[in-house]
Amino acid sequence: MLKTITNIKDIKDELKQLKFSNKIIGLVPTMGFLHEGHASLIKTSACQNDITIVSIFVNPIQFGPNEDYNIYPRDLQRDITVSQNAGADIIFNPSANEMYPEGYKTYVEVKELTEVLCGRSRPGHFKGVTTVVSKLLNIVQPDRVYFGLKDAQQYVVIKKMVEDLNMNVKVVPCPIVRDIDGLAISSRNIFLSSDERKAALSLSKSLFEAEKMIKSGEKDPEKIIKKIKDIISQEKLANIDYIEIVNFDTLKTVDKIRGKVLIALAVKFGNTRLIDNIIVEV
Ligand code: AMP
Repeated sequence: MLKTITNIKDIKDELKQLKFSNKIIGLVPTMGFLHEGHASLIKTSACQNDITIVSIFVNPIQFGPNEDYNIYPRDLQRDITVSQNAGADIIFNPSANEMYPEGYKTYVEVKELTEVLCGRSRPGHFKGVTTVVSKLLNIVQPDRVYFGLKDAQQYVVIKKMVEDLNMNVKVVPCPIVRDIDGLAISSRNIFLSSDERKAALSLSKSLFEAEKMIKSGEKDPEKIIKKIKDIISQEKLANIDYIEIVNFDTLKTVDKIRGKVLIALAVKFGNTRLIDNIIVEV
């Protein structure tokens, strides 16, 4: 039976028992409003570990002042059902006050990797992410932690933090789950009108086109970016934030397609900012 725990002391007590019986622990950090993307991470963790913990926490410090913290979708009952069906054992669902009590002062920051792509458009966002993930890793002390490549930059940043801070956890990347028509599944898709959703299909369409260009030998990032931009710009409702091609490890822009590259983009439809990407290895 799935257990829901809301305070830090209780989950630490629970974990002490589990570790005493040598259980291998997997952690899946989320902000809730769970969908098939999250479910795939939970299923992977349930396959690879004895116990899977899903954290559900809409982390206030990773949202900018004009972002969607207050309206971010929440539905704990549904999250419990999705988690249980995917094989989770425990939901950790702390309040903001439990995680950041009055007088809270400590932040974790990864340099450079967080200053590009989404970090450029969302200053402070990754500092909020690395801080909350550090806290969750300290609380749960899992053997493995699971991140979706939907947020590829987040995965690269967390992997670096875990390496730099000598944390004892394996960071496991999981592939992007898409709707049947190609749209990357996101909790924020619920905010899209049906016209915006149709227009948003241009994101995956352009990325698949870019992949085809690379597979047929195109090496010039400028030409690939232009193609992506042309496809997305055909949609009147699309407002491009960035389209970039970077090295997957360093997140530095590349002047030639070689090795493992990340083609990443962020585009706004109305007030909803969507991200998508594709990783191509040459
Ligand atoms: P979020 O609740 O949006 O913070 O996401 C929690 C985790 O689920 C992150 O590691 C995301 O990258 C991952 N995730 C979200 N959407 C998808 C998706 N469509 N496919 C794979 N992973 C996803």
